[in-house]
Amino acid sequence: MRYDTVICGAGLAGITAALVSLSHGKSTAVVARGESSLYYMSGYLDLCGNGDNPWNAIDDLAHANPAHPFALSDAKEKSEALAFFVEQTSPGYPYAIPVDSRNHLVPTCTGGIRHTYLLPANAGADGLADRGRRVRAIGFTDYRDYSAQLMVDRLNKKGYSWTAAEVESGCSKVSQTSIDLASYLDDDYPALIDKLRPVVKDCDCLVFPAVLGFKKHRVIVEAIRDAFGTAVFEVPTLPPSLPGMRLSSALISRLRGLGGDLFWGFPATADNSAGDRCTGLIVDTPGRPRLIEGENYILATGGIAGGGALVERERIRERVFGLPVETYGTTDERFLFGEQGFARSGIRVDSDMRPIGPDGKIIYKNLFCAGRALAGYDPFTEYDGAGVAIVTGYQAALAAIRRWD
Ligand SMILES: Cc1cc2nc3c(=O)[nH]c(=O)nc-3n(C[C@H](O)[C@H](O)[C@H](O)COP(=O)(O)OP(=O)(O)OC[C@H]3O[C@@H](n4cnc5c(N)ncnc54)[C@H](O)[C@@H]3O)c2cc1C
Repeated sequence: MRYDTVICGAGLAGITAALVSLSHGKSTAVVARGESSLYYMSGYLDLCGNGDNPWNAIDDLAHANPAHPFALSDAKEKSEALAFFVEQTSPGYPYAIPVDSRNHLVPTCTGGIRHTYLLPANAGADGLADRGRRVRAIGFTDYRDYSAQLMVDRLNKKGYSWTAAEVESGCSKVSQTSIDLASYLDDDYPALIDKLRPVVKDCDCLVFPAVLGFKKHRVIVEAIRDAFGTAVFEVPTLPPSLPGMRLSSALISRLRGLGGDLFWGFPATADNSAGDRCTGLIVDTPGRPRLIEGENYILATGGIAGGGALVERERIRERVFGLPVETYGTTDERFLFGEQGFARSGIRVDSDMRPIGPDGKIIYKNLFCAGRALAGYDPFTEYDGAGVAIVTGYQAALAAIRRWD
């Protein structure tokens, strides 16, 4: 098997890179050990910062830290990457760029408020912008991971006047997860509409936990909207995350639709290399390891959280190519909620996204790196997880494509 581009990892970074490669007519394969962070994350795609203006936050970060991945591209390149990504989501699970390029204000399921940049169409864009809006939050008596009343009580202390109501979902499982509820509603959403009739009153917007179906999500949202004449939006719940799973599924369908190959469930365990070129990925498939060869390779294995890097007693080890991992010590003694040094650990790259060693030299001419595997940033304190993954996935693929020019 030989491809123009071989990508290791199927998270936001790897899939974005694959879609760029395919859209430039390159034969492309993605090798993935399994689910990515999309399975856990809210589906709110942060660009940068928990404030109103993400572009100022990016400038501040890049200025303060020239080793930050955002310092490797300018605002135009970032905007192109985000526009490309959003376009790819449109057939399956559409996201939108905010019209004013500002962050949206969005609720969390525990009644917190935060900022984020890209939202799926039914995630309540501007749900919090209008304080006079008559919003009714619906919970499910048999879904323990979400309390509409708790969310509403906390939001109302911040000046809103939402109301809450609960109905039984009708799903027969004793203890349901968001996935159980979504698959139940895929099969039987008309019954939910009947249960909602007595509790939907005096409101122009209905808010649900993000369990409104997986395969039939759009149909379900439209059916509720039509039945009650209200806006409908979802609030992310505890993991697993339906919005993230819908996005992942939509991106993977797009990848396959464009002719990409996805080897799902198989970890890459090592590379073949000859001098300064990588010549193949060794992939652990049932029965025997297989070699997947390419002209260019993109590493997007998600660092420590994604499983691409392993924390050992004395070092952090990059698991596929054995690349050097730049490490940082813990910088904040508050430990759990403070900034964690290791969060910034990762692979250092040059301006073409190629991994470099401590001496600054390129390791392989045809290997590029993107996303959470990169060094120099911390998505949990900077609110830039999805933004860095999308922008650097886009950049890495374009840099690989430039090798043909
Ligand atoms: C719990 C949690 C919540 C988050 N919430 C948010 C949020 O609300 N908003 C936001 O913007 N960001 C959030 N983030 C951060 C954001 O999700 C990540 O920074 C971003 O999605 C990383 O994307 P990635 O593609 O680089 O890596 P990942 O999503 O980690 O993907 C890595 C991929 O590589 C694969 N892989 C790993 N090792 C191998 C191997 N050896 N061979 C083949 N494949 C391999 C994995 O299976 C996976 O497919 C959250 C992260 C976590 C963990």
